[in-house]
Amino acid sequence: MKLSSLVVRDPKVNHYNPPHQVPLVAASSFVFGSIEQGMDIFDGKEAGHVYGRFGNPTIDAAAEKIAALEGFGMDKPCYGLFCSSGMAAIATVLLSLCEGGGTVLTQGDLYGGTSSLLDDLSSRGIRRITTDLRNTEKIEDCLADCADICVVYVETPSNPLLRCTDLEYLSDLAHHYGALVVVDNTFATPIIQQPLRLGADVVVHSTTKYLNGHGTGVAGAIVCHDEALMQRFLPTYRLFGGSGNPWDAWMVLNGLKTLAIRMERHCENAQQVASYLCNHSKVAAVHYPGLAGHTDCGTIRKQMSMHGGMLSFEVAGGLDAAMAFMNRLKFCTLTPTLGDVDTLVLHPATMSHRGIPREQRMTYGIKDELVRVSVGIEAVCDILGDLEQAIG
Ligand SMILES: *Cc1c(COP(=O)(O)O)cnc(C)c1O
Repeated sequence: MKLSSLVVRDPKVNHYNPPHQVPLVAASSFVFGSIEQGMDIFDGKEAGHVYGRFGNPTIDAAAEKIAALEGFGMDKPCYGLFCSSGMAAIATVLLSLCEGGGTVLTQGDLYGGTSSLLDDLSSRGIRRITTDLRNTEKIEDCLADCADICVVYVETPSNPLLRCTDLEYLSDLAHHYGALVVVDNTFATPIIQQPLRLGADVVVHSTTKYLNGHGTGVAGAIVCHDEALMQRFLPTYRLFGGSGNPWDAWMVLNGLKTLAIRMERHCENAQQVASYLCNHSKVAAVHYPGLAGHTDCGTIRKQMSMHGGMLSFEVAGGLDAAMAFMNRLKFCTLTPTLGDVDTLVLHPATMSHRGIPREQRMTYGIKDELVRVSVGIEAVCDILGDLEQAIG
């Protein structure tokens, strides 16, 4: 072999004993030992990898781990797909389930991107009906009136108002009318709430948030417990290019190890921040599932084991007061994401929900003076101290 060929070849890799951590497999394709083996792997007769967009050992490990967490305690296996973003996961699910059109029944206060996606899909034959999914009469009216509702899409707790929907009740009702229930479990994580156990059909995640936990990558996931349903996602997953990459999968695998202890600390700190804000004269309202007076406390008690790290509140004095408050923050960071280990503050009206016309946003209850806080795992006195000096 010539030297110019030798430089191109990979060296022999020694696999003596396994690495202690899941390896990051950075390869776009996988080698077939023979043409027969290649055909068998392509046909699924033999387990194996083909091409990076279809899966990869690192990506599969992340998908399987998230599926195992969502399905923990269930008597059937769960299946996962790792996606390039939370939006890729949501788009893959909606496009797959609403093939040839159909209607999605959903709520008003949704992640801004999901709301925009649903509006965008209306020009592609997928209709959106918006209602309050906590109102049992309203949901039943919608389901009874509109026979082509194929998906009920729910976020609980919702973004940014932390409203909580009874997933067990909603799933029973949706199934009665032949619709599937898709739950965005990004806010709660499987540590706090397991929608599939409550009867939901599909869970989607933006793993960008709590599952990664450290703000180091954008990715998403789809989980369901029905193999036939998972098969329905595969063509869109593979052909629309929404599959995730090994680096992000590896970062998520790393973050997941501390998810349970991070969530405990997030919840403890958020409870203290919520109580502090409740008693502040310059705060008009606080939205947090752990507050005794929460409108959905029955649902919360039923389906959440803790109350989460997310809260939002209304600054007394309107938009100007809210903006002044945010500009005075020193310890907390003003940034449009959530679920990282440090405390993050976002202004829905100008950031995550700026794409929604003001009038429509107001009907959803997302006011100009609403501030969203992703409470971190720092010493809570530092978080409280910063809020104190910024509220003034
Ligand atoms: C961030 C987020 C998404 C979108 O996820 P990306 O990873 O940013 O694409 C969807 N749902 C919720 C609740 C989110 O917070």
